Amino acid sequence: MIANNLYYKCGPLYLAICLISSIAPPVWSQSTNLDAHVHGEAELLIAIEDKRVEMQLLSPASNILGFEHEPASDEQWEQVHQTEELLKDADRLFDFGEASCVANSQIVELPFEQMHGYEEQHTHEAHEEDHKEHEAHAEVSAHYVFECAEPPTEITALLITQFPLIESLNAQWITELTQGAQELNANRLRIDLR
Ligand SMILES: [Zn+2]
Repeated sequence: MIANNLYYKCGPLYLAICLISSIAPPVWSQSTNLDAHVHGEAELLIAIEDKRVEMQLLSPASNILGFEHEPASDEQWEQVHQTEELLKDADRLFDFGEASCVANSQIVELPFEQMHGYEEQHTHEAHEEDHKEHEAHAEVSAHYVFECAEPPTEITALLITQFPLIESLNAQWITELTQGAQELNANRLRIDLR
């Protein structure tokens, strides 16, 4: 079975990314924006193997946090931490309808996180470097694995209502039988997998 081979070759954590980069370039490459960084747009990659769902969310930080520079105040640091908590709370971001899926793994990567607490140690020079660095854009990624009671036939991307700065979510999925893509937005949250 293709999915099983992939599972071993790529490891469970990076299956979705691996699917895109290794086996299905003709499918994904036409519509995916993995390298693009467009504020307001985000990507959701979904790999489904029977009752197991793996998802990768990729977004400019501006859609998720509202900013892409290093947090400049306690309020902004608080926002980073709260956002991380929300991104880890998969039940508030996705609904699988009848399939009742439960998240058993979530890995959230926010920018800046590792820097918090080290600010005091920065020299003036280091700060200059930081400022240069943070003129660049920043990304957020989150990876989820769900185990479901039955194979899901739909996914509702509640995360669009949680993060209203995501104007357009490009969802792409692959199952053992089929694959597809759908553009989601505030008026269209549901992915039909059938
Ligand atoms: Zn940006």
